[in-house]
Amino acid sequence: MTTTENDINAADVPAPENRPRGVVARLPRYTAGKPPVVIEGLQSYKLSSNENPYPPLPAVLEAISGRQDINRYPDPLSTALRMELASFLGIPADDVVTGGGSLGVLNQLLATFAGRDESGIPDEVIYPWRSFEAYPISVGLSGAESVQVPLLEDGTHDLDAMAAAVTDRTRVILLCTPNNPTGPALTAAQVEDFLGRVPADVIVVIDEAYEDFVRDPEAVNGIDMYRRYPNVVVLRTFSKGAGLAGLRVGYSVSHPPITAHLRVAAVPFAVSQLAETAAVASLQHHGELVERIQGLVKERSRVVDGLKDLGWRIPQAQGNFVWLALGDDTPEFAALAEQQALAVRAFGNEGVRVTIGEEEANTRFLALCATYTKGPRVS
Ligand SMILES: *Cc1c(COP(=O)(O)O)cnc(C)c1O
Repeated sequence: MTTTENDINAADVPAPENRPRGVVARLPRYTAGKPPVVIEGLQSYKLSSNENPYPPLPAVLEAISGRQDINRYPDPLSTALRMELASFLGIPADDVVTGGGSLGVLNQLLATFAGRDESGIPDEVIYPWRSFEAYPISVGLSGAESVQVPLLEDGTHDLDAMAAAVTDRTRVILLCTPNNPTGPALTAAQVEDFLGRVPADVIVVIDEAYEDFVRDPEAVNGIDMYRRYPNVVVLRTFSKGAGLAGLRVGYSVSHPPITAHLRVAAVPFAVSQLAETAAVASLQHHGELVERIQGLVKERSRVVDGLKDLGWRIPQAQGNFVWLALGDDTPEFAALAEQQALAVRAFGNEGVRVTIGEEEANTRFLALCATYTKGPRVS
């Protein structure tokens, strides 16, 4: 196609009537993790998006290369995956709803349960802050209002304040365990106590994107909570532990009175047959995945111990990342990392989140920290 001077360029035509909803202008922008800069003679590493550094399992690659039917729409109910999850988790397949990543599932959930009431008054969705940066965007787009409850000093949820923030407009509460970006996991006892204090008509979402990396024996298991509390919705994903971030597949687990409504709001065909096949193969080869995940957990311990040896204070790290509460030094540290060809994730003047990556990447990160005199010290 050629462009001539006479063509009308739609971008130049004022169209004041095409305004987005007011909320769109007020929403924060989702910032994807930066790619690493290229530095001569230095292998670059991306430690900014909590991705799994390993390539897919050979069995997963083999399974998806066998799927030739992509001229067809996928099964909208992801039946094969839901059946596989049912036996993997020991739950009814009917309690599983799949989506385009757990973020897609979260959007389905918010579209279903939060927004505005018949007279236009916004519902409230409570979540900890700082937490996953997609939460304010998803809540804002649903039409509901965000109620952000600041984390405690140690990077954990302030569950007392979150329970106290419940009003008769609260529809949904998001718990993020382990919390992205700070790292601590909630314990089973904490979550049970919290669920006991929250009205049963409020949905409590337990976002377990990093569940595969949790090694704290006290940590909550969302599926246990779902078994005992009808208002719990568990969110899980194949993006992190299973290393399928690029294929977009996640799921929720909840009881039929909630699940039935979620299916109504589900984006049709959000999970492609490639994504579904890869997820099924990952579950069928779970043992191999666990070995890889264990390698990352060992690397996490090495990084955490290395930072502690430097006298740095970091929150409990139960995901595939560590949090450095660097405050005003955040941009400076991120720039120094960039000079080492390490892309890390800086959050304003709060801190830096660094993903556990390849061994060499982690070693280079620790070496950088050893030269940095303004780390978050134990006081
Ligand atoms: C990465 C992440 C997700 C979702 O990832 P998807 O790729 O959409 O499955 C959800 N919650 C948290 C806290 C995350 O960090």
